Amino acid sequence: MRQRTTEIERSPYNGGTKSCAWNGCGKTTREGKPFCSDHVEQHGYVQEILEILAEKEAEEERVRQHGSDAVDPEGLNARELLLHLDQHGSRTIERLAREFQLESHVISGYVEALASRGHVVTGRTTRGSVVVQPSGHRPAHRAG
Ligand SMILES: [Zn+2]
Repeated sequence: MRQRTTEIERSPYNGGTKSCAWNGCGKTTREGKPFCSDHVEQHGYVQEILEILAEKEAEEERVRQHGSDAVDPEGLNARELLLHLDQHGSRTIERLAREFQLESHVISGYVEALASRGHVVTGRTTRGSVVVQPSGHRPAHRAG
């Protein structure tokens, strides 16, 4: 008699009824899985996003503690800052801090790292604030 190979489940129990943990779904899931078939993929996608966000926050924290040396100039935060400057033009550090909801010294860390690589140019307003503008030089690839 030919035995059909079935999916091997790592779940400790089979057939237990659980309802989908996706916000507002509540469908009964198969084999004790935490999400129904409609949501298991979305959950994977959300997990990925959460990991990216966690990495962004971890970098922000490193920059908060160690300044510009901790900046990954090709990382997501640096790219977002450059994109923002491209789209909106010159900004003061204080304004960027408000727009990114980060402390001024964290923004300064990113700006210093990007300025030292020529990705942004900094200047001063008559009131002494640092103004950041995009230099148009993209961080396309890592320097040696
Ligand atoms: Zn669901």
